[in-house]
Amino acid sequence: MKEFNYTIIGGGCSGLSLAYELEIHNKLKDKTLAIIEPRLEYKKDKTWSFWKTTDHNFEDCVKKSWKNFSINITNKTKYLECNDYPYQSIDSQLFYEKIITKLKKNKNIGFFKDIKEVKLENSFIFNSVPLIGSRENKLWQHFKGVEIETTKNVFDDEIINLMDFDCQQLDSVHFFYTLPYKKNKALVETTWLSDMNNDLEMDYDDQLKNYIENRLNIKKYKINYMEKGAIPLFYTSNIDEKNKMNIGTAGCMTRLSTGYTFLNIQEHSRFIRENIENIKNVKKYEIKKKYEFFDKILLRVLNRHPKEIPNIFFKMFNNSPETVIKFLSNKSNMLEDLLIIFKTPTKWLFIKALLKI
Ligand SMILES: Cc1cc2nc3c(=O)[nH]c(=O)nc-3n(C[C@H](O)[C@H](O)[C@H](O)COP(=O)(O)OP(=O)(O)OC[C@H]3O[C@@H](n4cnc5c(N)ncnc54)[C@H](O)[C@@H]3O)c2cc1C
Repeated sequence: MKEFNYTIIGGGCSGLSLAYELEIHNKLKDKTLAIIEPRLEYKKDKTWSFWKTTDHNFEDCVKKSWKNFSINITNKTKYLECNDYPYQSIDSQLFYEKIITKLKKNKNIGFFKDIKEVKLENSFIFNSVPLIGSRENKLWQHFKGVEIETTKNVFDDEIINLMDFDCQQLDSVHFFYTLPYKKNKALVETTWLSDMNNDLEMDYDDQLKNYIENRLNIKKYKINYMEKGAIPLFYTSNIDEKNKMNIGTAGCMTRLSTGYTFLNIQEHSRFIRENIENIKNVKKYEIKKKYEFFDKILLRVLNRHPKEIPNIFFKMFNNSPETVIKFLSNKSNMLEDLLIIFKTPTKWLFIKALLKI
């Protein structure tokens, strides 16, 4: 069996982002890397979207960028600008193709389907396979999205609808999300924040059909692509060891209040590349604790008072959009954090949650 200096378990978003980052910075010229990925072929399976608050390696995989977004609750809509931090959408197929093409040119990189095919004893392992454990009382962001094409031009392709909470909520939190790529093409997603125990929430297809036909008033359309997923809004139970570091979702790179992970993965990859020569001794890379703290309180409020969440998100945007974007992207300073918390009209819920009343 072959031995490698580094092994990446899971060739998904974080595994491939890390391998690419190491490759383009010449860190695999004299070192070997094994990538373990069971999938048989790479095809489009995700659309990664985020406010671009930091540079990344995948500008050429951006499907579209927007400088305007809206958020709705019943009878109210806010229209907001994000000129400094455009909202970008990455096509996973372009991302996979770009990375695999590059990595295949380096003979020091080997691709394997099963971990049993490589010798791990002396290898440093980057693991991206999360250990979920018990699902009981755990919150998820779960969703289904369809990319639709309409016969007429019906979308304003300059503005995304980030969260439309004006829909059935049940006892959890529910919103629709619309990314118009063209005037006749958009990704429409139904998204829930819940423990996934309520079967009604799983009628994604009916929810999408009803929203597209009755709310967006689109009667003639075809579905070109579908994506479905569930992002854990809790940290998975993977533990870093002496010769092993967790990355991606398994490495706690998800912002628990929003599910945003992609840019955190890119920043983590950069950190690993900068420290690769001393990787066994490097301090664990983490999203700042203050965000973990805020997110846990928000999720506690979500558990106890789910009906308040649409209003909390809506009112959060009473602050400047830049402040909120920085806060949700782990880039805010202390003053901006305080503005967010104290301008939230339901701040007493946060204080109560904080005191666990
Ligand atoms: C449908 C979807 C849409 C998302 N959209 C966004 C978004 O818009 N913005 C955002 O910031 N985040 C988004 N996320 C969250 C997050 O960015 C993604 O989940 C991202 O793919 C996480 O990267 P990862 O490497 O941790 O996991 P993955 O990309 O899932 O990679 C893990 C890899 O491990 C492989 N694997 C599984 N089991 C094994 C095993 N036993 N051995 C070896 N390999 C194994 C899998 O095949 C997979 O390729 C989305 C998530 C989903 C599911």
